[in-house]
Amino acid sequence: MRIETDVKLDFKDVLIRPKRSTLNTRSAVDVNRAFRFLHTSSEWKGFPLIAANMDVTGTMAMARALGKHGALTALHKHYPEDELAEFFAGPDGTHAFYSLGTTTDDVRKLAAVAKTAPIRRICLDVANGYAEKFLEIVKRVRDDHPDAVIMAGNVVTGDMTEALIIAGADIVKIGIGPGSVCTTRRVTGVGYPQLSAIIECADAAHGLKGLVCADGGCTVPGDIAKAYGAGADFVMLGGMLAGHDECAGDIRYETRDGEQVAVGMSFYGMSSQTAMKRYAGGVAHYRAAEGKTVETPYRGPVEGTMAEIMGGVRSMMTYIGAAHLKEVSKRTTFVRVTAQTNDVFG
Ligand code: 5GP
Repeated sequence: MRIETDVKLDFKDVLIRPKRSTLNTRSAVDVNRAFRFLHTSSEWKGFPLIAANMDVTGTMAMARALGKHGALTALHKHYPEDELAEFFAGPDGTHAFYSLGTTTDDVRKLAAVAKTAPIRRICLDVANGYAEKFLEIVKRVRDDHPDAVIMAGNVVTGDMTEALIIAGADIVKIGIGPGSVCTTRRVTGVGYPQLSAIIECADAAHGLKGLVCADGGCTVPGDIAKAYGAGADFVMLGGMLAGHDECAGDIRYETRDGEQVAVGMSFYGMSSQTAMKRYAGGVAHYRAAEGKTVETPYRGPVEGTMAEIMGGVRSMMTYIGAAHLKEVSKRTTFVRVTAQTNDVFG
């Protein structure tokens, strides 16, 4: 048995230290980034935030709304073939990733959609990116789609980040267990503190000219700021984007003072009982659910949340004197803390 004793950190364990700077106003900072990708000749410029490929958040409506801010959406994989083909052939297709798992049917469906519409971005997503078979599938998808940007994951260590990049991924998705509706750590005891995972995997990826997407665990705009500070090129959000009009799912109403008021929306993990019942007819006998179902408060259009997120990132940049998002990780010094906030008023 081995024990690693150096401390690994989560978002809640650090704050970003302010630095002297000449930036006076938040409007002077640029939250966009321009990327070239290792395996493809394409370029992308925008706000590097991605809505998670979960049933609730990975919707076409989300892609349209986030696209207005230059942000991206990984569509969930359960849309029918013809809807996907139509979407990717249209203008909003440029703001989206086509997501798939590793089943033969997933790979077949991607090939079918790609025959009729351009698929520029692919999100190859498995809960455990450590299986040898996963590397084979990344290689195969890279061979079949030489011009597409491929994001693959999830992993949390430098060795596997490098292996995925060498196999053909342009972006490696980082995170095992930090998600808001994830129960992997409880059920399996497996995981890795997310801030340290981002720092270590970004270092490994950048050494090979690859990129990383920090996936899961952001609960407030400040966590997104910390993820960029830690070296994340992209940040993926599930829970923070749930509960909005652009999400899939029913809004729950309550009668208050005689009026119908929208109060909540359902949100669930893609390995929850809810998801497995919907797509696989239940939880298979050899596996346990590793996700849960919750109700999030109803929060109206995602526009308001995006304004908060982008405002938070801009403000962080003025605190540390970064005029461009690209400079953020270089100008970030984290301080370890024992408390984050003053909670006297709850
Ligand atoms: P959040 O932003 O909600 O904290 O995290 C979103 C991420 O959680 C997703 O992008 C995905 O990687 C992960 N996730 C989604 N559903 C499940 C699930 O059922 N189980 C686990 N282990 N992770 C999940």
